[in-house]
Amino acid sequence: MSLARLRGFGSAMEMLLYPERMDVALYRRAMDTLLEEAKPVARQLLRLRKRLWGVDQLYPYDLWAPLVDQSEQISFAEAGDLLRSALAPQGQEYVQVIDTALRERWVDRADNQGKFPLPICPFQYGVHPFVLTNWNDKLSDAMILSHELGHAVHSLLIHQNQSIGDSEFGGNSAFGYLAAETASTANEWLCCQYLSASTDQGKALPRPAICWRLVSRLCSRRCSCMEGSTNG
Ligand SMILES: [Zn+2]
Repeated sequence: MSLARLRGFGSAMEMLLYPERMDVALYRRAMDTLLEEAKPVARQLLRLRKRLWGVDQLYPYDLWAPLVDQSEQISFAEAGDLLRSALAPQGQEYVQVIDTALRERWVDRADNQGKFPLPICPFQYGVHPFVLTNWNDKLSDAMILSHELGHAVHSLLIHQNQSIGDSEFGGNSAFGYLAAETASTANEWLCCQYLSASTDQGKALPRPAICWRLVSRLCSRRCSCMEGSTNG
């Protein structure tokens, strides 16, 4: 708080949100809405975990343990088709970028020695973005790919529409992580919606798997927000 005052901020939260260019009231409203909407589902999920595992108490790490079998297989080519279809509501221009990224090998998916271990989408001004991920033919890999390609589209549009001085690379970040994660999380949501509706392709995701995925993401996003994490 002392540091925030020294820097001319009204509160520590105001100081921490400044790089995100986010108003404190907006942040509180977003968190309140998120918690209000997610709370009943999260409680339901926790009760289900206890019942399935036969335990009386859960610990924080239990949130990350898989609740359902996640063995659904999907090839990289099939994942591409899934993304093109599921992300169609984002518009033609958006899907075209996804298509180009997949066709022109913007995605480095092979595991390799020395490769960054987490999925990430690093970008450099003036060059198209690259996605680094490790592909194992799992449906969860497709969801991660949808997330990272959201970052790819976002950064590409920044480069096309803003100068280097207004981009992250000018040292004055044009967007905070709230904005950066919006397209990515929307992609995951659209994929979940699409999969839950696709019962005729043999790729339908069981409803519990969708719930698990979404609630886990909500939990992790909240943790990320609170900790200021910038991973993926
Ligand atoms: Zn992300």
